Amino acid sequence: MHSLQDFAEGKLAALETRALRRTLAPTHRIDGLWVERDGQRLLSFSCNDYLGLSHHPAVKAAAAQAVETYGVGSGASRLVTGDHPLMSALEGRLADLKGTEAACVFGSGYLTNAGVIPTLIGPGDLLIADELAHACIWAGGRLSGAETLRLRHNDVGHLEEILTARRGEARRVLVATDGVFSMDGDLAPLDRLSATCRAHDAWLLSDDAHGIGVLADGRGSAHVFPGADIPLQMGTLSKAVGGYGGYLCASRAVIDLIKTRARTFVYSTGLPPASAAAAIAALDIIARDPALCALPLAKAQAFTSALGLPAAQSAIVPVVIGEADAALAASRRLRKQGFLVVPIRPPTVPEGTARLRIAFSAAHPDDEVARLAAAVRPLLAA
Ligand SMILES: *Cc1c(COP(=O)(O)O)cnc(C)c1O
Repeated sequence: MHSLQDFAEGKLAALETRALRRTLAPTHRIDGLWVERDGQRLLSFSCNDYLGLSHHPAVKAAAAQAVETYGVGSGASRLVTGDHPLMSALEGRLADLKGTEAACVFGSGYLTNAGVIPTLIGPGDLLIADELAHACIWAGGRLSGAETLRLRHNDVGHLEEILTARRGEARRVLVATDGVFSMDGDLAPLDRLSATCRAHDAWLLSDDAHGIGVLADGRGSAHVFPGADIPLQMGTLSKAVGGYGGYLCASRAVIDLIKTRARTFVYSTGLPPASAAAAIAALDIIARDPALCALPLAKAQAFTSALGLPAAQSAIVPVVIGEADAALAASRRLRKQGFLVVPIRPPTVPEGTARLRIAFSAAHPDDEVARLAAAVRPLLAA
């Protein structure tokens, strides 16, 4: 046991000296907008609850009702006895929203990519992933055993180069990218990526974790680009949808294969019925209220315009500070002014690009957005 203790303590000490140790800060989310930390009430710009649906009365009521009726857990993997009828109802809603034949719901977004990618590719195949793609895409790549190549961020010419050089020798090729980049807020050029993939018979997977509910009337990043043809559209129910769970939308055959073979689906317990009920209620709101879905981007653009930054493309605006300790200090300054803006440090973002990641919600009051812009202005000059 001694060497284990030494290992853990040594690792922590090394991270501490680089300002990279992470600790949990108990946070009471009062209403999806205001939070309480260490007795201080703060306006959060660090939640992904873009539409405030985590606390919406209709969504909460649907979840509470499902708990009363069906209990708190699903009891088993969906292939055993955990496939509650609410799951296929939810999958129908997701497929409708995304415009695909079918959908498959997983325990989380992370589990979705960790399950889908190794089901589709393996040794002898190639995964090409944008260098800023989410950690769970890289995890899926490792689990698959496929050779993984790093695509320069949003560089379609680089993709063309790689495919021209390597497509012939690879059995299958999967290209994976975030639709909205989680730490940068920019969009992938999904129309041009999909055209290049088609030309080389490569399969495109887009991770729409931050697009669903926010872009293109809530339908997500793929729908920002008319003509984009994306056979694998995954995402999460934990951000704008307000609850928990992940999904893949694709053709009927692909979904049937995933449900038969994806290990994070087959060997993991089904989502609790209340999570499915909450997601259905949230998707109802998203479908009937495009004006609500447009608000997070509008707030983000008001912020970037106030500061003379490039116009926000999504609800996420990065303010890159540089070193990790400077980002921590910047976050503390904002906190003194009543804002919770959590600093993001390596390895979540590349070395030297520690940042404040500001996430806008439909519920943020306009005067608070203006006050935050004024508080951030001196940090930009630094
Ligand atoms: C949050 C996130 C995920 C993971 O989704 P969870 O449901 O939280 O596991 C996947 N991809 C991206 C781009 C994300 O931001």
